[in-house]
Amino acid sequence: MKEGALHRALFERAATIASEFRDGIRDRPPYARADTAALQARFDAPTPETGDNPLDVLEALPFAAEPGLTATTGPRFFGWVIGASDPIGVAADFLTSAWGQNAGNATCSPAAAMAEQVVARWLLDILRLPPTASLGIVTGGTMANFVCLAAARNAVFARVGWDVEARGLAGAPPVRVIVGDDVHTTVLASLRYLGFGSQPLRVPTDAQGRMRADALAALLAQGAGPAIVIAQAGQICTGAFDPFAPIAALCREHGAWMHVDGAFGLWAQAVPELAPLVVGCAEADSWSVDGHKWLQLPYDSGFAIVRDSAAHQRAMSIAASYLPPSETYDPGQFVPELSRRARGFAAWAQIRVLGRQGIARLVAGHCALARQLGERLSREPGIAVLNDVVLNQVIAGFGDGDLAQRSENARAVVRRLAAWNEVLAGGAQWRGQWVLRFSIVAAPLTAPDIDRLADVVIRAWREVRDGG
Ligand SMILES: *Cc1c(COP(=O)(O)O)cnc(C)c1O
Repeated sequence: MKEGALHRALFERAATIASEFRDGIRDRPPYARADTAALQARFDAPTPETGDNPLDVLEALPFAAEPGLTATTGPRFFGWVIGASDPIGVAADFLTSAWGQNAGNATCSPAAAMAEQVVARWLLDILRLPPTASLGIVTGGTMANFVCLAAARNAVFARVGWDVEARGLAGAPPVRVIVGDDVHTTVLASLRYLGFGSQPLRVPTDAQGRMRADALAALLAQGAGPAIVIAQAGQICTGAFDPFAPIAALCREHGAWMHVDGAFGLWAQAVPELAPLVVGCAEADSWSVDGHKWLQLPYDSGFAIVRDSAAHQRAMSIAASYLPPSETYDPGQFVPELSRRARGFAAWAQIRVLGRQGIARLVAGHCALARQLGERLSREPGIAVLNDVVLNQVIAGFGDGDLAQRSENARAVVRRLAAWNEVLAGGAQWRGQWVLRFSIVAAPLTAPDIDRLADVVIRAWREVRDGG
């Protein structure tokens, strides 16, 4: 086959397969149908020796994968916090792959660098963060936390005369790293990668998982020296926001770096109605937020935003004789990787399609749907919504027995949902018991989808209650 014909045949076939998959997503059961053995039977084969025809392989891939795919982009999926890979982002991402750009350096792909530069400006504007902050596009919230905390590490050590990039941590002056008790587990992972260890100082939280500012004040007053305080916008179970204004004031008073893990919750900064939740948030020194959650970008995409762009760059830049220093903005200076995907193209397209107002409507709409779910579930005897539904996350407990009994009820509800495969929501632990957790974050969700979800959950609970 001629080169041009092969391109067309492969890319058009991929587009057809993709469209058919997405066209059928509303009716697709949310859990994967195939188990590990079935998938192994489809994927596994002796190590390829001679190579196959690309068109045949392209047919073989969906045949192998399809039964093992979950319907994350459809309206029956409420597990974890997963966006819907909006078609515009997917199409832009497809072009990104076709173009094969390496966004590690502005000279290597001026277009990728420009797209990232413009995306950075737009996002800082939409998220109402300082226009002079720097923004690195990374793979997600985990890496965004890592990058922001690396910048924090650079800055707090620099203030006590320690060049951590050159000298490392051995022999360094102590730094207090402080998190709320209901911190996201990936923050602990990034602290581990940075040599801070996964056991930072923990501040007690309130019933919604919000850091208690009085306890933070007491903790900061106990010691001296450099400190990093990690606050949170959007707790993974409750959606709660830490009290940023008092936290920011305390950080200023003690010279501490304030970071906000806002993987999904930072988008509240873009929604006028949610402004009361984020008072003081923009006073932080760094913020992390995902693209593949509420912005609906395809995996993987996240943003690391740092007020002190020099600290950001000192923590991340990579130099070599063959990497021409850029006179203009170079996205590679703000991320850990050298070679990297040009994620700015999909982000640029997605933000253009939604616009500032579309993003605000999307987020506010999901919050309204979450309240609808909370109200429906609360009306059912025996189901308790355990959080104040301030954002898009809802957690529910079942029955009125002791913690062990309620945990068993929640697990039994989850088992029924998985067996019925009509809607997907997962279990999580909250305050010593298992609960059912719902995340309303995927773009196509509507009020009838929420009603179906509530119907199925209530049906499952009644069966569990009645000993079915
Ligand atoms: C999802 C999430 C993360 C991690 O983000 P990834 O994109 O999964 O790496 C961090 N913090 C919070 C609050 C999250 O919800």
